[in-house]
Amino acid sequence: MSAYDKSNVFARILRGEIPAKIIYEDDYALAFPDIAPQAPVHVLIIPKGPYTSFDDFSTSATDAEIIGFNRAIVAVARKLGVHESGYRVLSNVGVHSGQEVPHYHVHLCGGAPLGPLLS
Ligand code: 5GP
Repeated sequence: MSAYDKSNVFARILRGEIPAKIIYEDDYALAFPDIAPQAPVHVLIIPKGPYTSFDDFSTSATDAEIIGFNRAIVAVARKLGVHESGYRVLSNVGVHSGQEVPHYHVHLCGGAPLGPLLS
């Protein structure tokens, strides 16, 4: 796995160098809308630490970071009002997934029926 690149766009959002509409923030996570939404609700949730992917985060982060981040995802779903109707949480890892930004992030999508995952 390649080293964390501090110049990636989500690191720059975390540092306030690139604007984003912050939907949610706590000690472990930051959430903002995807710039190219693919569902009525399409939010990106990122950890505050320097992790390249779900794989890196899950092996390198502390238990507190992992628990805090996962709880933040649920808090975002509640804040956006999609937890009753349902939503999808997805994370791309590496080349075959098409991961574009090398800072761990999950896509939280909802607001309408989403259809099959791999269509
Ligand atoms: P990935 O393919 O890495 O899982 O997803 C990266 C996502 O980041 C894409 O859905 C893309 O639209 C989104 N994105 C890329 N650059 C920016 C940006 O500058 N601001 C925001 N809000 N989203 C971005």
